[in-house]
Amino acid sequence: MLKTKDIIDEFDPRIRLVSKDVTFPLDDKTKKVIADSIEMLRLSQIEEYSKKYDLRPGMGLSLIQLGITKRIFVIVYEYEEGKFETYTVINPKILSESEEKIYVSEGEGCLSVNRPVEGIVPRSARISVEYYDIDGNKINTRFREELAIVFQHEYDHLNGILFCDRIDKKNPFKYKDVYRGI
Ligand code: ZN
Repeated sequence: MLKTKDIIDEFDPRIRLVSKDVTFPLDDKTKKVIADSIEMLRLSQIEEYSKKYDLRPGMGLSLIQLGITKRIFVIVYEYEEGKFETYTVINPKILSESEEKIYVSEGEGCLSVNRPVEGIVPRSARISVEYYDIDGNKINTRFREELAIVFQHEYDHLNGILFCDRIDKKNPFKYKDVYRGI
């Protein structure tokens, strides 16, 4: 099982690496890392287990956060109390983005950033994306609102970008009334 200590933090230079496209079929080791990451995120969102295993709740994890430079991330989204949707996203592309920008009102978080960071992280409210699933099937779909934010956050990780990089340094709340908080 993956633990908090397996996740590299913002001070580890590997977090800044640009990950590389993956070829199919995936090897068993990569499939195992994907399954373990999904399991960890799922448990982290269930209070009993997040306490038991000392996991900070998270919705997304990119493999670079485990030091693996592959363009892969996973999202575990609780769409109903105790019910989760999971996405394994491989070699993603963002094809188009809405002009409307949104942000997480309470601030974005990241399992690799272990300190509170205040400020607005502007994200597109809706995105059209293309990626491959774990079996190499090409998926074309759209994400909106919270899922769109998580997708963009994880996509940034593949390019070595952290959410804090997107906060205006001089005025972290500059866009508070310009964009829509969710
Ligand atoms: Zn993150």
